[in-house]
Formats: sequence, C-alpha cells, structure tokens
Amino acid sequence: MSLIRLTDLLFTGRIAAFRSSRGLSMRRKLVAGNWKMCGSLAQNESLLKAVVAGVAQLPEMDCVVCVPFPYLAQTQQLLSNTAVKWGAQDVHRMDKGAYTGEVAASMLCDFGCSHVIVGHSERRSYFAESSHQVAEKFAAAQKSGLIPILCMGESLEHRETESTETVIAEQLDAVINLVGVQALSKAVVAYEPVWAIGTGKTASPEQAQAVHAFIRQRVAQHDRQVAEGLCILYGGSVKGANAAELFAMPDIDGGLIGGASLVAEDFLAICKAGVIRNPA
Ligand code: PEP
Repeated sequence: MSLIRLTDLLFTGRIAAFRSSRGLSMRRKLVAGNWKMCGSLAQNESLLKAVVAGVAQLPEMDCVVCVPFPYLAQTQQLLSNTAVKWGAQDVHRMDKGAYTGEVAASMLCDFGCSHVIVGHSERRSYFAESSHQVAEKFAAAQKSGLIPILCMGESLEHRETESTETVIAEQLDAVINLVGVQALSKAVVAYEPVWAIGTGKTASPEQAQAVHAFIRQRVAQHDRQVAEGLCILYGGSVKGANAAELFAMPDIDGGLIGGASLVAEDFLAICKAGVIRNPA
C-alpha cells in the first residue's frame, strides 16, 4: 500500500481501529534524547539537573536520555529516583567475550539503563550495520531486560525513488523475523528519515504520519494488539517549534531528539509538546 493511500485512509478515518473509543491515542508520549558523541562531565551535570527539574513538572509524558557509555555512571548518579530514565546508544549482540571495545547489555543494566538505541542510521551507515545485525542487538538488549529503541529510516535517494516503504519494511521485518512480533510489545520504534537527521530538514507531519501508519499497519498484519500499543517516535531535526504539530499526528508517539537534546531549554520545550492533554 502506498504512503499516499495510507494518508487517505487516515484522513477518511479507516484506521479508526487504532484509536481509542474516544478517538484519541491511549499511548503516552515519550521524548528520548540521543546525545551521540557529545558531552563532558561538567556539561552533563548542568544539563541533567535542568532536565530533571523540567521533566518533574511534566508527569503526563515519559523522558529518556541516551548518553555515551563513559557517562553512564554519572547519569545514573544524577537521575536515580527522578522521573527521567536513561540508556545507551548501542550494544553488542553477545553476552560477553573477546570483543575488544564493545559493551554488553548486562553492563548497561549494571548502570541502571532502561533503554538502548539500536540501528541508528549513523551506526547503519558509518559502521555498516546490517538489519540482521541490528536485530541481533535488539534481541540481546531484550534478553537483559532493556527496552530497545529500534531506529529505521530511508535515505533521500530512497525517498526520491519511492522506496521508503521497501526500506522500512526490510528494517522492521528483520527484527520481527528474528525475535517475533510479540517482542515489539517491549520495544520502541523510532522512524528517522536519514535526510532529516541533523540537517535542519524535518519531515512534514503528514509525511512522518504516513510512514508511522505504515509501520503500525505492518506490525498489525502480525498482531493488532501489539501494533496498537507500539510507541513509534519520530526523529529528524525535531525542535521546540515543530514538535507539537508532529506529536499531534495520531501515530506519532513522541520523538527521538539529537541536537536539541543537548540544550536543556530546547529539550524541555520538546518534552512540553509531549503533554497533549486529552479534552474532558
Ligand atoms: C538523531 O540523531 O537521532 C536525530 C534525530 O538527530 P537530530 O535531532 O539532530 O536531527
């Protein structure tokens, strides 16, 4: 089914089965920060303290920060017993062994991580990670009780050649084929068009919604309940100024935030957009 067809279905209400009886999504919004290879002990401390203070005022949404490995201990110390969860940006597929430079899921658990990003486009492109390798990382994370944030997205070339759905399907199916669709009930998916990451170009709410609906429909082909509960984040140049209109789309359940997660004020503005109070 084409993206345009999905958008048509959405706006004619044909995917109403994914809405609650009041027509509103029952999924909580999640805003996750991806610091990438940024930070320092001093910067992290002021950033995390400000995020903790801001998120304490927003009990309606969930917030996670995914920090570089060396800062997990500091992050655990500053975020324990707060409303902000934390995680890492990658994990190895094996439990332990001779894999110099790699980090196992159990090690992330030792530092209190709840989440871990797998399959970020920078890992897929700079480190040539295949969808199967990403699926193995997903499996390793879940085996240790971590919630994987499974990233997927198309390049500009893929979008321009109308291959978006093919790419997304391949990246999603690799995980479903390895671990089964039920595994997605304890995971988060992040749709991140590669052409929008760190470029200042954002997918329009309609473009993003169409792909999110495609992901949810594809999961629903295996299990409707898992699809309905699945948290699907949008990532790609999300800012305070565009977050609310993205998050208002029915299948967008929050954001995975790169650059803007490094500035407390910017990150908190996005977190606030995750508070969409249902009308009485
Ligand atoms: C990301 O790296 O996951 C990301 C979405 O980056 P940015 O928000 O900077 O585009």
